[in-house]
This record gives sequence, structure tokens and C-alpha cells, in this order.
Amino acid sequence: MQEDIIQAEKMKVVSEIAASVAHEVRNPLTSVRGFIQLLSDPALNDRKRREFSSITLEELDRAEAIISDYLSLAKPQIERLEPIVLEDALAKASQILSSYANLQNVEIITDIKLTATVYGSKSKFRQAIINIGKNAIEAMPRGGMLTLTYTVNMPNQIVTITIADTGIGMNDEQLKRLGSPYYTTKDKGTGLGTMVIFSVIRSMNGKIEVRSKEGEGTTYFITLPLTQQA
Ligand code: ADP
Ligand code: MG
Repeated sequence: MQEDIIQAEKMKVVSEIAASVAHEVRNPLTSVRGFIQLLSDPALNDRKRREFSSITLEELDRAEAIISDYLSLAKPQIERLEPIVLEDALAKASQILSSYANLQNVEIITDIKLTATVYGSKSKFRQAIINIGKNAIEAMPRGGMLTLTYTVNMPNQIVTITIADTGIGMNDEQLKRLGSPYYTTKDKGTGLGTMVIFSVIRSMNGKIEVRSKEGEGTTYFITLPLTQQA
């Protein structure tokens, strides 16, 4: 009974996000449609044509960014709950982040000595780690270090994943707003990435703590219950 209620709560969070993302993607698509219509006017001068084309591309990039921040949550119907081997999941996530990191002169360090297994949806968990890593990389415009590691606390049967960057950091005000939908400080931000992170970790019965210092960097601490290895 209790379990059912918790499960229903989780689905509610996911479907609320789905509804708001659908809405957010629709806005840029509507504007793209309008500009394509304007572009078909043969009387349009070159300057206007270039301006409208570039707005169209920007709006499409925006729709793409929203979808990619949200990627795996967009298909809750194929969600499968299963044991997640942490070292594999983190390796996969850092592999996906590596080209983006290279582009920004960020070095990714995965420092993992132990094996640990948690329980949840692999794709959602990977999405959460990617969203954290993406923000970390974006916080280091002049390069830096992104470190992924975890420690296991056997007596309490928990694992704490630590994801640290050497980026611009956040002040207390920014830290407080982290995780609220559409909160962004970036020109082309969606403000959806952190919301997805929090909702995924919550759905895995985990906790997130974020510590940050302006000019020094940010560290995410994610605590999750361990799963007995099968
Ligand atoms: P977006 O990345 O599209 O702005 P997010 O929800 O992913 O949206 O992040 C919200 C905001 O939180 C960012 O705009 C940024 O200001 C702040 N933020 C998140 N992670 C970090 C980080 N590692 N370092 C500095 N600021 C961060
Ligand atoms: Mg982000």
C-alpha cells in the first residue's frame, strides 16, 4: 500500500516534467514555423533573410537543448528498474561527456577503486550524471578538472558519489535556487537539467547535497542505498 503511494508520487513527478517539457519544446517550434513562413516571402531582402535564418537555427538549438537535458525521462514507458553497477554507469557517462569536455579543455578523472551496485533505471541515472557533468563542464569555460568518484559505507549500506568541478562556482543565492524548474544563468540555458537530476535521485530514494564556492568550484554529493549483489 505504502509502496503504491510512493510509486504513484514518482510517476506524478515524471508526468509533470513531461507536460512542462512538451510545453517548452512547443514554444521554439511555433516560432520556427512562423519564421519559415516569413522566409518564403520572395520580396524578403538578404539582411532579413539572414536574420530570420539565424533565429530559426537558434530556436531549433533551444528545442534540442531542452530535449537533451530531458532525454531519458521523455520515455518513461520503457523504464526498467534494475541493478546498476556504479563503475560501469560512471564510465559510460564520462565517455559520453568526453568530447564535450575536450572541446572545453576539461580533463575528466574517474577515481574508482571499489565495486558498488545501486538500484534504479539505468538510462535515467545516466541522464542525471550527464546533466551534472554537463553543468560542471559549462562552469569551466577556461578548462579545468571534473572528478567522479564514490565511497561505500558498508555499515549503513549506502554509497556516496562525488562529482566535483574546478569551475566558477555558485553563491548562496544561486545554490538555493538550484533545482527549481527553468532557473538558469546561461544565455542558452534551459533550467531543466538540475530539475531532472533531483527528480531522478529522489526516485531512487537518494539524497543530493551540493557545496559550492565562487571562483573555486562545485561538488555534488549523491547518497544512494546499496543493492545486495545478485
Ligand atoms: P542550465 O544548465 O540549462 O542553465 P540547469 O538546471 O542544468 O540549467 O542548471 C541551472 C543553473 O545552475 C545553471 O544555469 C548554473 O547557473 C547553475 N549550476 C548548475 N551546476 C553548476 C556548476 N557545476 N557550477 C556552477 N553553476 C552551476
Ligand atoms: Mg544544465
